[in-house]
Amino acid sequence: MDLLIGTGNAGKLAEYRVLLAEAPVDLLGLQDVGLLDMEVDEDGATLADNAQLKARTYARASGLVTLADDTGLMVDALGGAPGIHAARYGGPGLTMAERRQKLLDALAGLPDAQRAARFMCVIAVAVPGDEAVVTVEGVCEGRIAQQEMPGEHGFGYDSIFIPQGYTLPWSRISPEEKHRISHRGRAARQILPVLRRLAGG
Ligand code: IMP
Repeated sequence: MDLLIGTGNAGKLAEYRVLLAEAPVDLLGLQDVGLLDMEVDEDGATLADNAQLKARTYARASGLVTLADDTGLMVDALGGAPGIHAARYGGPGLTMAERRQKLLDALAGLPDAQRAARFMCVIAVAVPGDEAVVTVEGVCEGRIAQQEMPGEHGFGYDSIFIPQGYTLPWSRISPEEKHRISHRGRAARQILPVLRRLAGG
């Protein structure tokens, strides 16, 4: 079965290629089906709303079973911000490096104990012509680093997010280790049986 991954984020797509390696599916990116330029307004009130919206929209446009995720980064000291708007944190037109710096500035001076944060990921799978969309959720607790800690791995906020029980951010943790404990890894493991069922295997 072909499975479209409904994301324009190359980092996410690369993670799904590993996370879904054992699923009986052939992964396609938006670029493979000519939909890379198609924007979906992520105007839902929750991660689940936005994940479903993306999965349904790309499934309809492509005619393929489609998986999409929406990810949020909740920082306790900021009342849950950036939250579900993590991709837009700090305003339009900023680079990811500028968004990370905004977050570090907002937490300036706070000790580690007051930098608690969590990543939440909702994965939705939509089947063309079927209104029902399956969703699953994964959470990873951690904290925001005191400064950027660039490394070899990851994307987005990975260089400033230190998972609980670790001293290094995801940018310096192997992808295998990240997948074992990450929000996306936890959600992906729950979606595997759904994909197996859809693929009839
Ligand atoms: P969205 O799900 O594409 O809306 O992602 C929200 C924001 O979080 C974007 O800025 C992503 O780059 C970032 N993001 C999503 N997943 C991860 C991750 O696993 N690590 C670090 N940043 C992430």
